[in-house]
Amino acid sequence: MTTHLTGVGIGRGVAIGTVLRMPDPLPEPSDEPATASADTETERATVSLAATAALIRLRGERAGGSAKDVLEAQSFMAQDPTLIDDVSARIAGGTTAERAVHEAFASFRDLLVGMGGYMAERATDLDDVSRRVVAHLLGVSVPGVPDPGHPFVLIARDLAPADTALLDLDRVLALVTSDGGPTSHTAILAREKSIVAVVGTPGALDLADGDLAIVDARSGTVTVDPTPEQLADARARTEALAAAAPAPTGPGALRDGTAVPLLANLGSADGAAEAVALGAEGVGLFRTEFLFLDATSAPTVEEQEGHYTRLLAAFPGRKVVVRALDAGADKPLSFLNATQEENPALGLRGLRALRANEQILRDQLTALARADAATDAELWVMAPMVSTVEEARYFSRIARETGLDTVGVMIEVPSSALLADRILAEADFASIGTNDLTQYTLAADRLLGSVAAFQDPWHPAVLRLVREVGEAGAALGKPVGICGEAAADPLLAVVLVGLGATSLSMSPAALAPMRAELARFTLAEAREFAELALAANSAGEARAAVMAADTTTTTISTITADSITKPNGAQS
Ligand code: PEP
Ligand code: MG
Repeated sequence: MTTHLTGVGIGRGVAIGTVLRMPDPLPEPSDEPATASADTETERATVSLAATAALIRLRGERAGGSAKDVLEAQSFMAQDPTLIDDVSARIAGGTTAERAVHEAFASFRDLLVGMGGYMAERATDLDDVSRRVVAHLLGVSVPGVPDPGHPFVLIARDLAPADTALLDLDRVLALVTSDGGPTSHTAILAREKSIVAVVGTPGALDLADGDLAIVDARSGTVTVDPTPEQLADARARTEALAAAAPAPTGPGALRDGTAVPLLANLGSADGAAEAVALGAEGVGLFRTEFLFLDATSAPTVEEQEGHYTRLLAAFPGRKVVVRALDAGADKPLSFLNATQEENPALGLRGLRALRANEQILRDQLTALARADAATDAELWVMAPMVSTVEEARYFSRIARETGLDTVGVMIEVPSSALLADRILAEADFASIGTNDLTQYTLAADRLLGSVAAFQDPWHPAVLRLVREVGEAGAALGKPVGICGEAAADPLLAVVLVGLGATSLSMSPAALAPMRAELARFTLAEAREFAELALAANSAGEARAAVMAADTTTTTISTITADSITKPNGAQS
C-alpha cells in the first residue's frame, strides 16, 4: 500500500530508488575497568585522537567547499585540549581509553545541548568524532554509508558532516533523515551539493531496506510503494529537471522580461569567487556574524575592514548587501550575548544586542564604510531582527552618520511586516528573512525537529506578511528582497515574486536552477500563484494549489494536501 511521509524538502529535485538504511552505530564501550596501565591507555587514546583528527581533515580537503570548513572544525574537536585533559583524567581513574573517550565526549556534548541553538546543533558533530575515535581504538571501520553496489536512497537518523561531505552522488540518489531541520549541517551540505533530500521526516527509520520510494524535495514528501501513475509522474519530472540542468545564464528574469536579480547568500569572502562563477549577480545577504562565531572579544575595525574589503572587491559594480552582526539565539557571539537567557530567540538579539553595545555597531559600520571607500561594489547595509519603527529609524541614523548611503532593514518579525509601510519610510530597502519570519509567525523554533512541520514558509500567514511588505515596497518605490531559505524553493520563489519580492538571494548552488525556473513564468502568472497560495488554509494546501496550477511541467499532482500526513498530527 502506498504511504506518504512528510519532512522538510531541500531544493527541488526528485529521485526514485530502493531504500537502504545506515548501519547501526557501534555499541557503547564497556565500563569494565582497564586491564592495561593508565600510561598505555593514555598513549592509545592520544594516538587515536590525533589520527582521527588527521583523517577528518583529509576528508575535508578532498571534499572542498563548506564541507572543508565543517570538517576542519570537527578535526579541531578531536584535538581540543579540554577534552584531551578530560580523557586523561578518566583514564587515570581506571577506565579504558575507549570508555574515557566515550564519556568525555558525551559530557561535552551535554554541555553543548544545554547551551541550545547553534551550539546544540554541533552535538551531532561531536558524537561523530567520538564514534570515529572509538572505532580507531578498536581497530574496526566506522559504520558509515553502505555500498550495496547499486544506486539507492539513503535513510538515516541524521548524517555526520564527514559522511555527507563525501557522499558518492552516483550511488546515493537521495537522502532522507528522521532528524535535523532545514538549518542542520545535513541540510546545508545537501543544498550545496544539490543532493535530493528530505530532512526531519518522522517515520523514516521504519522504512525497510529494499522499499521502493519517490523522494520529492520540492514537496518534502517520501512516497513509499508508489502507484504506477506516481512513478510515471516522478520519472517525467526527473527527465524534465535533467533537461533543464544546463540552465540559462544572464540576469534573473521572468518569461515576460521582468527582472528578478539573483543574488548570493554568503558567510565569508572565501565563497565570493565561486558565487560569481555560479551566476550570482551580487550578494543579497552577507552574514557577518559567521566570521566571528568563535571570537571571544569584539573584532577590531581593522580586522573587519580586511574581511569586508575582500568581499566587496569580488563584486565590482555590483550590489552587496551586508547585514550588521546578527548575534543571539541560534548564532550566539560571546562578546555580544553575555547573559544567559531563558528564551534567547525572544531575547536581546540582532539589532537589540547591537544597540546595547553601540560601540560594536559603530565599529562595524566604520569598517564597512572604509571598505566601501576602497572598492567599487555598491554597498548596502541592513539591520537584523528589526521589530519597531523606532529601531529602523535608529539604525538608519547611525548608519548614515557613519557615511553609509543605502540603509535597509530585515523583516523577520511579524510586527515589522505588519508595519512595513512605516518601517520602509525610515529605510531605503527591506529584505525579508523568511527563516525567522516563519519561526515567529508559527511560534515554532527553527532548530527543533519536533516542530519542523510548522516551520513551513508556504503557510498563508507567512505569505500574507510577505504581501504586506511587497505592497509597502511597491507603494514607496523601495526594493524588497527575500534572503531566507524560502527564496531557494523554486515554486515558492515564484509566489514570493508574485507577492512583490524584487530580488531573491540564496545559496549559490541554487542560483542556476532558480534562473531556469523563473524563466518559465510571467509576472501575471506569478501573481495568480500568489493569490492561490494566499487563499489556502494551510501550507500543504497552498503548495498543492500552486503545484496543480503549474501546468508547464509534470508535477506530482496526484498527491493532494489531504493525503499528506503531517508529522505529530500538525496541521500547517
Ligand atoms: C532569515 O531569518 O531568514 C535570515 C535570512 O537570517 P538568518 O537565517 O541568518 O537568521
Ligand atoms: Mg534571521
